[in-house]
Amino acid sequence: MACELKGSPRADCIYVDAMLGWLARMLRILFGARVVYSPGASDSELAATDCLVVTRDEELFRVRRGPTLLLRTDDHDAWIAAFLRLGFRPFERTACPACGGELVEVDCGEAERAVGHAVVSERCWRCTSCGHYYWVGSHWRGLRELVERARRADVDIVCRGP
Ligand SMILES: [Zn+2]
Repeated sequence: MACELKGSPRADCIYVDAMLGWLARMLRILFGARVVYSPGASDSELAATDCLVVTRDEELFRVRRGPTLLLRTDDHDAWIAAFLRLGFRPFERTACPACGGELVEVDCGEAERAVGHAVVSERCWRCTSCGHYYWVGSHWRGLRELVERARRADVDIVCRGP
């Protein structure tokens, strides 16, 4: 099986374990999830939190009492498929992939001045927290394709009671 869940998943508070930085960024941008990604977090901190913990670590999964998702694969499509399977809906909300801050739509002229080059897009956003600019481009198409592949992926999830 590709992943194993215990407890009930939640999007408002997710700890993503070390080595899963890519997933942390995707959970923010695709689902607007509130994600804590701190590779320096101690095992005891991760073991104690009530947030959903996402990990590749079988031992951490075993000792956890709170909600935990164990990923048993390195297949990134399968990771996203697991969250779709858990009821996360893509493209309804979003957050800054870099820091998790709120994105506000801005005039693309502002984005062009800030990044110092032309931005070919009709919609642009700025993170209110870290100031990064984002726009619809090839990266966005990549996200759509990622979700389409994840929807087709065959992912087994075993759910345990709390
Ligand atoms: Zn940000």
